[in-house]
Amino acid sequence: MSILLVGEFGAEEYARWRENLAACLAGDEILRLATDKYDPASIEIALVANPPAGSLVGLRNLRLIQSLWAGVDRLLSDATVPAHVPIVRLIDPNLTQAMTECALACVMFLHRQFPAYAEQQATREWKKRPQTLARQRRVGILGFGQLGQAVAAALASLNFDVEAWSARSHSFEGIRTRTGQSGLAALLERSDILINLLPLTAETADILNANLFRQLPRGASIVNLARGGHLDEGSLLDALASGHLAHAILDVFREEPLPRDHPFWSHPRITALPHVAAETDMKTAAKIAADNIREFRGSRMPAPLVDRAKGY
Ligand code: NAP
Repeated sequence: MSILLVGEFGAEEYARWRENLAACLAGDEILRLATDKYDPASIEIALVANPPAGSLVGLRNLRLIQSLWAGVDRLLSDATVPAHVPIVRLIDPNLTQAMTECALACVMFLHRQFPAYAEQQATREWKKRPQTLARQRRVGILGFGQLGQAVAAALASLNFDVEAWSARSHSFEGIRTRTGQSGLAALLERSDILINLLPLTAETADILNANLFRQLPRGASIVNLARGGHLDEGSLLDALASGHLAHAILDVFREEPLPRDHPFWSHPRITALPHVAAETDMKTAAKIAADNIREFRGSRMPAPLVDRAKGY
């Protein structure tokens, strides 16, 4: 029985994945690329990275799906992905490290008021703004999972005043965690900087909307590192225009690549990144996938599994 690799890849990327996976998989594993000729009935495991919808149709002997991406929202939105086949998430310390570094860069950029100084530079204005220390800067994190926890811990270690929001309650030294709508309201009203690290689900879609922005203190900034579908774009533009929000750093968008005529590109109070916060590291992801396949071959189900009912 074989392994199928399927993703939104060009020929060169497929070739690099094949090379990295071949270096890690057990010698008797047979790896097929979606671009190869193969018998669909021979596929037992699918390695997927944002696969085009319908990619897994006809794989009647499929028993395991291993995601090579952290987010599984696109995979779960494909109704043709067989509901009985377990999906294993990618947990990669390198990806977590990359996200932590990106979130720290965003928070420091906002905390040290670089957007305001950039505006001053444009008009050659020499003006010192009041200095604020990290312990006086309140950061709220939506999502306290694999990435949210790492980001929260890194910010707390630099003395930022961090709170986080999740579905279940968590206890975590040095970080107040909140749940539910009242917990969200309490977190929002004290967040000078709000970072979104939620998965995109039916419950979290459009969560960054006018109602949420209103609950943030005037002059707050937002950082969206999760998914474009979390953000109501029109509400963000309104909140920036009214001055209620000072700045937004956006790594993800409803449409990617961000269309060339999109107003976010030239907005002075938006920093737009081309979905680079935390990319899959092919070498480490291939090793993690291969280790999980070894576990599966040894009759143990790898973890963590995606909870289909929750959507993440
Ligand atoms: P994760 O481990 O699944 O954690 C998700 C967190 O969100 C958990 O704390 C979960 O609560 C919370 N949550 C989910 N639904 C909720 C709801 N309705 N209300 C309140 N909290 C809710 O996910 P992760 O690995 O940290 O990744 C988060 C997201 O980052 C991914 O889904 C992906 O979209 C994004 N991402 C972006 C990039 C990039 O390059 N920009 C790279 C990787 C990932 P519980 O703890 O109670 O379960």
